[in-house]
Amino acid sequence: MDGCIFCEIAEKKLHFQIVHEDSDVIAFEDMNPQAPVHILILPRKHIVDLLHLSSTDEVLVGKIHLVAKKIAKEKRIERRFRIICNCGEEAGQSVGHLHFHLLGGRRLGWPPG
Ligand code: AMP
Repeated sequence: MDGCIFCEIAEKKLHFQIVHEDSDVIAFEDMNPQAPVHILILPRKHIVDLLHLSSTDEVLVGKIHLVAKKIAKEKRIERRFRIICNCGEEAGQSVGHLHFHLLGGRRLGWPPG
């Protein structure tokens, strides 16, 4: 989508630290990391947020989680990591392209802020 920073990254118009990519999913380092490992995992196609998923996206969402598992193992954080999807401005969503944060490599507090 025009003007979407994550679409631009997915289309490789911007160069980023990409850690995974396939035909449907891309993952790259967050530019403002909140933990030693902070990766964003997202669908290549533009979906605004979780509320905009449809039943045809079932496989895509599963794939994103399998990518998260693969990266957690590669980064050796499989004993302590978290996946977060902020939905809506008040929940902290600042980019309107569905994405999942994979955070790990340090003790993660609960409840989150
Ligand atoms: P959220 O606040 O849940 O929408 O998450 C957006 C995340 O994207 C934040 O953690 C930002 O640091 C990150 N971010 C925004 N722009 C970029 C970018 N160009 N490259 C990498 N990470 C970005």
